[in-house]
Amino acid sequence: MPTHENRSDLAVQRVRHPLKFRLLQVTKVAALSPHLIRVTFTGEDLHDFVSASFDDHIKVFFPEPGADKPELPEAGPNGPVFAEGRRPIARDFTPRRFDREARELDIEFAMHEAGPAATWAAQAKIGQYLGVGGPRGSLVIPTAFDWHLMIGDDTALPAIARRLEELPPGKRVAAVIEVADPSARIEFGTQAELHLVWCYRSEHGCRGDALLQAVRATWLPEDGEGYVWAAGESATMRAVRYHLCTERGVEKSRIRAASYWKQGAAAVHETLDD
Ligand SMILES: Cc1cc2nc3c(=O)[nH]c(=O)nc-3n(C[C@H](O)[C@H](O)[C@H](O)COP(=O)(O)OP(=O)(O)OC[C@H]3O[C@@H](n4cnc5c(N)ncnc54)[C@H](O)[C@@H]3O)c2cc1C
Repeated sequence: MPTHENRSDLAVQRVRHPLKFRLLQVTKVAALSPHLIRVTFTGEDLHDFVSASFDDHIKVFFPEPGADKPELPEAGPNGPVFAEGRRPIARDFTPRRFDREARELDIEFAMHEAGPAATWAAQAKIGQYLGVGGPRGSLVIPTAFDWHLMIGDDTALPAIARRLEELPPGKRVAAVIEVADPSARIEFGTQAELHLVWCYRSEHGCRGDALLQAVRATWLPEDGEGYVWAAGESATMRAVRYHLCTERGVEKSRIRAASYWKQGAAAVHETLDD
């Protein structure tokens, strides 16, 4: 994939945001599929919330068992300052949709067997409280690339859905997504020219096998400038990135791959590079 570094409209930008912690209250809970729950939050604290990229994440703080509100850190000059000896339960999530006028923020939770975030989402009810911190920064990937490839599992669905909504009409984009089975598919709203490939863990022995196989089978345009975004389970994302960079010639500056979680470990976030 040749790159033309002189195209300034293709420069990926990093934007910093002031750190802030916000207390939010649930106003709506909707199952998008048996495997994905959308929770809508509101709060006056959202008046200055900013999310510049579909790739953003916020730290979501959950109440301790028995408490109705989460304990939030203070925003210090060098990051969060926690009350002495306290480390609230927190996990990373994508700001799926934000409406400043309505002071509304949607977060979509992928369901799985264990973990405070998934457990909280499975019982989420109107009126409950959660806290969010950030986003502290955004990686803004221009929509001007001639083509986009998006790869991910259930945890990447919110980011992929948001990006598909944001891409301009007619933009070439392919999305390759692994979920449990066909019941986990969701509808996307997009004006882009979308080539969508769903693949299913139910048809493969190991997590990630279906995704890797589908990525291997994905055709990459030889013309134009492209950008690949990938997020999901750590080992799978490493394999996807390795395949694209070493076997398919994708420039490392033209791929953003991240571990959104890691099999057998809690609260993992890594950006994959060399
Ligand atoms: C930048 C970023 C953005 C993210 N955005 C989203 C998002 O919008 N929606 C979303 O659902 N997730 C998102 N994630 C992933 C989410 O943070 C993790 O899945 C997180 O571990 C869930 O917390 P938990 O408390 O449910 O489980 P944890 O306590 O963290 O983990 C408990 C156990 O469950 C396993 N586990 C964790 N997640 C999964 C999973 N999805 N499937 C199967 N097993 C799992 C772990 O390996 C561990 O063994 C994002 C992660 C990052 C880093």
